[in-house]
Amino acid sequence: MPHVFLKSLECLRCGQKHRPVRGLYVCKKCGGKLEVKYDYEAIGERIDKKALAKRPMGVWKYRELLPIRDQRNIVTLNEGGTPLLRARNLARELGLKNLWLKDETRNPTSSFKDRPMSVGVSKALEFGAKTVVAASSGNAAIALAAYSARAGIECYAFVPEQAPDAKVVQLLVYGAHVIKARSKGMGDPAYKLMQIAWEHYGWHPIPSCGTFNPYQPEGSKTMSYEILEQLNWQVPNWVIIPTGAGTLLSGNAKGYFEFEQLGFIDRVPRLVAVQAEGCAPLAKAFKEGTPPYEIPTWPKPKTIAGGLVDPYPWDADTAIPAIRRSGGSAEVVTDSEILEAERLLARFEGIFAEPSGAAGLAGLRKMLDGGMIDPSDLVVIEVTGGGLKDIKAATKIVPRAPVIEPKLGQLRKLLDKSH
Ligand SMILES: [Zn+2]
Repeated sequence: MPHVFLKSLECLRCGQKHRPVRGLYVCKKCGGKLEVKYDYEAIGERIDKKALAKRPMGVWKYRELLPIRDQRNIVTLNEGGTPLLRARNLARELGLKNLWLKDETRNPTSSFKDRPMSVGVSKALEFGAKTVVAASSGNAAIALAAYSARAGIECYAFVPEQAPDAKVVQLLVYGAHVIKARSKGMGDPAYKLMQIAWEHYGWHPIPSCGTFNPYQPEGSKTMSYEILEQLNWQVPNWVIIPTGAGTLLSGNAKGYFEFEQLGFIDRVPRLVAVQAEGCAPLAKAFKEGTPPYEIPTWPKPKTIAGGLVDPYPWDADTAIPAIRRSGGSAEVVTDSEILEAERLLARFEGIFAEPSGAAGLAGLRKMLDGGMIDPSDLVVIEVTGGGLKDIKAATKIVPRAPVIEPKLGQLRKLLDKSH
């Protein structure tokens, strides 16, 4: 059944409203970023908390709040519906009473990006797109490749020349055409190529950020919907979010504000962006009050958290106002703090995250040091991606495994030595 809840696309820069038609990804008037608007009154008449409670978990249980008109176009691998785990051991260790982990490593390609890409590819299918194109070396492109494969849509991924082998291989396995972009020292070469391909060949752009396509970021807001439902509608005091371009935080924020508008909650949680010290343009701009469109590109980004390397924070224009409106904050953490968080998540709670996925916990520890959090606060950390995506980083936090022959003597000698 087609639904009428998708209303318009509104330019965040000049306010111009557009009809959500095929081929329109940015404002026709000023080139600004578009935001998807719905008919919230009609949605409020269709769904309430009780109706939601009856539906099975997953991204598409919130279909009225997603931009697909015809449900037959939905391309899904059962993304979302990830567990919200109570972290009792970590809470005890950190002196907190009420700590939860949103475990996004359980998504089909092991990162939260499956939520936006399920929506992005579904919309591409609805528009009749034959080819989609991404600019990213990381989890977003991998998720796009997987969903495109499932939809039978051709996928091109422009990646930086130095993209790690593991991620390039994963892209190729899903059948994506991977093209490496060489930097000529002028902006992001992969994004540049994506724009060229989109303008010249008419391919459907599905990058991670919302700047060049308003649809796929809608998927990320379902994380917020789930967190609220899983907490039985208690609103967390804090939600801590690993942050690169600000896309996830913007998407999450939209989810909370929408549920507030629908009257499902009466306040929103304080949202915290956590960035890596080696690439922190958004956190810096937040602290210094730099207007989002004047944020300079971060020179020479370098961090172990590859998922957070976004030298230009494309979605700062939505993320920074959302942080402020929620009464939140931005934190910057070092690589060693991120690795320590990766170790703690695994040792205390049994969750293996990649460095960018563990950055939220590193940010929480920093906030506790700064006395920002009350011990009784309800805190949710988003663990955004799985550790198998970056084995090289994980080897930095583990000892080498010893080798012995199957003899009692050798085992005994080894155990004596380690005690
Ligand atoms: Zn505009």
